[in-house]
Amino acid sequence: MNKINYARQLDQKIEEFQKQGRYPKLLLHACCAPCSSYCLEFLREYFDVTVFYYNPNITEEAEYRKRVEEEKRLIAAYNRQVDEQHFEGMHSDGKAHRIGILEGSYVPADYYDAVRGLEDCPEGGDRCTKCFALRLGETARVCAEQGFDFFTTTLTISPLKDADRLNRIGAEMAQKYGTTFLPSDFKKKEGYKRSIELSYQFGLYRQDFCGCSYSKTERERQKEESAGTI
Ligand code: SF4
Repeated sequence: MNKINYARQLDQKIEEFQKQGRYPKLLLHACCAPCSSYCLEFLREYFDVTVFYYNPNITEEAEYRKRVEEEKRLIAAYNRQVDEQHFEGMHSDGKAHRIGILEGSYVPADYYDAVRGLEDCPEGGDRCTKCFALRLGETARVCAEQGFDFFTTTLTISPLKDADRLNRIGAEMAQKYGTTFLPSDFKKKEGYKRSIELSYQFGLYRQDFCGCSYSKTERERQKEESAGTI
């Protein structure tokens, strides 16, 4: 089966908007600042972007707060570039626009309810499918409720996450809530590489586990294994 090129689909949509002189309102679900860095650098030229920070999967409130604050710090830095018209060294050609942020609820019980029975799945398995559906479902709901034109997610920048599954779930959630999902595969076109460069440039906190308690435990086990303590 031929793989769908979601990055190409996004480029085609952008070309259409540019021809029409449109600047659509986009709700961008963001998982963390490092993953947002390239996505925002790219999208802010073509869309009126509002970040939606909705991640009840993140274990421990302190970790959650740390990630939200980094997201806000990154957005503030990008907005300062716009206010001061300073784009030196950036991908932007100077047409970038200010970025907004909305914070969703942080109720970890919503995550644990969504993944019940799948706690022991390996990372990338069915537990992650439920986690994606929870986060993209809420993004789609808010997108429809608040009158955004599209929504998408920074999650497709991760080489560890299945872009095909994310795009399929995004389209399903769009249909469920009566809105439109924008296809994406931000890791393509060196997007992931650029996100690492930008993370260093902005000095962003880069966590070493995905987010949930299960991914944290697994990461700790891997670290102990490589240190030879187990
Ligand atoms: S590993 Fe990541 S995507 Fe999978 S369930 Fe945990 S937080 Fe969600």
